[in-house]
Amino acid sequence: MKSQFEKLSNATIMMVDDEPITMELLQTFLEEVGYSNFCLEEKSENAIESLEKVVPDILLLDLIMPKVSGFEILTIVRNHPQFKHLPVIILTSSSDTESKLRALELGATDFLSKPVDQSELRLRVRNTLKAKAYSDRRAYYDPLTKLPNKLRFQKEFDWTLKKAKQYHSQLALLDISIDDFGRVNTSVGLSGGDSVLVELARRIEHLFKATDQDAHKRINSNIHCSAYRSDGGAFLLLLENIQDNVSIAAIGQRVLETVREPVLVDGYEIHLTASVGISSYPEENTDCTSLQRLANSAREFAKKAGGNVLQFSSKDISSIYEKRFNMESKLRKALDKNEFVIHYQPKVDLHTGALHGVEALLRWNSDGPGLVPPNEFIPLAEETGLIVPIGNWVLSEACRQLVSWRERGCLPLEMNVNLSVLQFQDKHFYTNIKETIDKIGINPCLLTLEFTESLLMDNIEGKIKKLEELKNLGVKLSIDDFGTGYSSLNYLRKLPVDELKIDRSFVMNIPRDSNSMAIISSIIYLAKKLGVRTVAEGVETKEQRQYLEDEQCHQFQGFLLSRPLPGDKLYDRYLRLDKNSYDSLATNLESL
Ligand code: C2E
Ligand code: CA
Ligand code: CA
Repeated sequence: MKSQFEKLSNATIMMVDDEPITMELLQTFLEEVGYSNFCLEEKSENAIESLEKVVPDILLLDLIMPKVSGFEILTIVRNHPQFKHLPVIILTSSSDTESKLRALELGATDFLSKPVDQSELRLRVRNTLKAKAYSDRRAYYDPLTKLPNKLRFQKEFDWTLKKAKQYHSQLALLDISIDDFGRVNTSVGLSGGDSVLVELARRIEHLFKATDQDAHKRINSNIHCSAYRSDGGAFLLLLENIQDNVSIAAIGQRVLETVREPVLVDGYEIHLTASVGISSYPEENTDCTSLQRLANSAREFAKKAGGNVLQFSSKDISSIYEKRFNMESKLRKALDKNEFVIHYQPKVDLHTGALHGVEALLRWNSDGPGLVPPNEFIPLAEETGLIVPIGNWVLSEACRQLVSWRERGCLPLEMNVNLSVLQFQDKHFYTNIKETIDKIGINPCLLTLEFTESLLMDNIEGKIKKLEELKNLGVKLSIDDFGTGYSSLNYLRKLPVDELKIDRSFVMNIPRDSNSMAIISSIIYLAKKLGVRTVAEGVETKEQRQYLEDEQCHQFQGFLLSRPLPGDKLYDRYLRLDKNSYDSLATNLESL
């Protein structure tokens, strides 16, 4: 949610001046009093383009510049639909009254004389920003719910659509209306109705502000959501940066859920539902007015169908959405119906061929034909938060399997279990793992927990602490798909990890692509320096296996040796060995 009015020091300050030194000096003066968002533009001919990109809260503008003068820029700014009211402080060299008068006529907000005095600069900037914040708040915010109003929506929507068209990104408009809102006013009075609206606005806004505590409710943080009060019992949601229609549907569904939770007014529980109409660009390649009309008629359609539903303006999206919700409702029941199974893929020493362990890979035995592979349902399980209970099930089931193999006389094996970032953020995560290990009674050093680099996207120090707590339980930690995500090379030193899994996307390029091979060698080199073992994933050919062995990678998994197998099959094929030693696998491997 945009919060540029919450704190003056959050304001974005843009400067246009052909002397970079002047701008840097001003930036230093302002940084000293807490401002931190700046855009410095020394090429006046690029000023408008930068302005449109940055959308500052204030502009400090030099008048005399080569190519395009400050006067010209000011004229364009004042005629620009988005920046008509942007505060512009003109920087002039001392006593040039004629220029000042001209700039004033063109709509300058204030002046500062060069060389700039620091305290005067700070005072002007602060006062101008304060005045802007106050007038913005009055003009653009709904006094009841404190959400931005329709006027602000109109401006932002125009601008956002323009941006989406320019950068070929996707946006969606959700038109939300509380079903039968008149009934609320009749039953609890107008002020009761007001409290309901305030509460609903808070909840809708909160959807995008979920804390780590309820991370599974959080909406994908790349999506930018803005909520507005449109009128009566209606709100608008503008979503930018969406990757697919499924995310739009997921957010719409969240809105329906949050409205359905009862609202308490004067001790009464009020139960409400909403109708949501959705239009999206580029699905509908049209203008703001039409997108609004489409969302609005979809909303009316939803209302006529009885409310408490989403309705897309396009048939194509509707069918995707229906498929997704079909799948979601099946996925919700899958744990209770015992539809999940785990297949295990062997992890083998590259030099001796000894079997070290297995990786637990989840499959879903849905009622349709065959097993559903994880790539088709894990993203949905993550979006809905279902991954947390499902992941807990995988962990205990995999541990139980270890115990059962052990009881059948096998030597100790390591078990790798994949963890989703959401599980890691769940507040019961640590206790769950500890209780599972204790209850099932496995040696924790046989359990390796795999997480991806995306875990380290933010709050790295905090995450390292959590990882260390886990390590203290005695388990091993592994970074999965290493090299594909956010580069944690710098942090690798500090991370308490035992294993790096080299992603299949590099391995599959051996021997064709020298870049991939160079990456593999450096990962192995680095890991060795840090005392971390390396496991190559997705090894399909003898050449790949040979290359990895030559590079002194420690272990590998892949179809070359075995696909992931059900527990019993894996036992029959690899664990029921005469001499009860997996070293004899080496003989199997020699033939590879
Ligand atoms: P991953 O953890 O990177 O697992 C390795 C994937 O590569 C597995 O796909 C495996 O079947 C496949 N694979 C192994 N060797 C080869 C090979 O030689 N060639 C090719 N082409 N593929 C190979 P799978 O089982 O479809 O799993 C896909 C992803 O789903 C996993 O990638 C993992 O990210 C996720 N996943 C699976 N089980 C779980 C789970 O229990 N929890 C969570 N959070 N994610 C899981
Ligand atoms: Ca994995
Ligand atoms: Ca992997």
